[in-house]
Amino acid sequence: MKFNTKAIHGGQQNIDPAFNSVMPPIYQTTTFKQSTPHGHKGYEYARSGNPTRDALEKSMASLENGSFGIAFGSGLAAIDAVLKLLKSGDEVISTSDLYGGSYRLFTNIFQNFGIKFHFVEMDNVKEIENKINAKTRLIWVETPTNPMMSIIDIKAVSRIAQKNNLLLAVDNTFATPYLQQPLNLGADIVMHSATKYLGGHSDVVMGSLVVKDETLANKLYFIQNASGAVPGPQDCFLVLRGIKTLHVRMQRHCENGKAVAMALQQNSKVANVYWPGFDDHPNHLIAKKQMSDFGGMVSFTTSEGTLESAVRVVERLKIFTLAESLGGVESLAGHPASMTHASIPKEDREKTGVVDSLIRLSVGIEDIEDLLEDLEQAFL
Ligand code: PLP
Repeated sequence: MKFNTKAIHGGQQNIDPAFNSVMPPIYQTTTFKQSTPHGHKGYEYARSGNPTRDALEKSMASLENGSFGIAFGSGLAAIDAVLKLLKSGDEVISTSDLYGGSYRLFTNIFQNFGIKFHFVEMDNVKEIENKINAKTRLIWVETPTNPMMSIIDIKAVSRIAQKNNLLLAVDNTFATPYLQQPLNLGADIVMHSATKYLGGHSDVVMGSLVVKDETLANKLYFIQNASGAVPGPQDCFLVLRGIKTLHVRMQRHCENGKAVAMALQQNSKVANVYWPGFDDHPNHLIAKKQMSDFGGMVSFTTSEGTLESAVRVVERLKIFTLAESLGGVESLAGHPASMTHASIPKEDREKTGVVDSLIRLSVGIEDIEDLLEDLEQAFL
């Protein structure tokens, strides 16, 4: 099955044996009747399993070309589950430019449990090798990175992971499986904030993991049940519905993202534009190799270079909504330094480029003329 067909039908065979409904029913139930202890039809208690969640998990697995999908109550809950594969004393090597909430989870929670994190600039993969020691267990990659749009070469990192017997997890939230499939490039775990493009309509908070290996899947299912951060059936239904249009939405996100990046590059009030589709983007060739297009996320700095100038622009926008999050049908603008990345110390975030004059756009699927006009008027 090819991708667009998978988005609609992947993992959805025989979803409603009772009535053959085309969409899975929303099994809004806590528990399932047993005829005798453990005499059930595959489901006992809804934390451990729910047919609506199952339908979504199978769809997610199919999209990522994996074998097992594991859904969580948020993207961070999914990352939390991956880290629970580790134990005190273990070490993790992570991209230095990453979502602020992931950084906060690593440094403010798991570090307290004795796990050590190294943040490195992975566009030079040698930096990873320099940090590997006998305690290293996991490499955490986010690509494209949030919000600087650096691209990490997943295949090159996976070679290092395999050589050193390390797990490789990739946060694929920005690219989505429509543009990039990390399991095909050698990753062991692919993670999503399904809150974003998979859900696609800014109405659900959810996370997911997809893996190929059954032993690893069973460990993650165990954590999903034992820690209990599961999504509800209504939300699973909504994300499954969102996934069915992922491919058409992504096509438009990519077209509009490109047009916005080009227009910003021509704007004299803009200093730098970060979008991996530019020929002179430092990782453009890797982006071309591992992604089928460049996505709908674009970041830029104002030429004035001040906090005030960035705040003025985001406050003046009318169609782009100033809000946290990304990946919905509507265009959003964010100010990473004070919003999504505020939990990273100023000195650390500025090293990766998250300066006060940086604005991040999630370019939606509205008419491009309206989006360009909106950006133009915000700079006046
Ligand atoms: N990873 C990335 C790249 C994100 O942008 C986000 C949220 O913005 C997350 C993970 C966390 O996901 P959630 O907000 O669903 O917990």
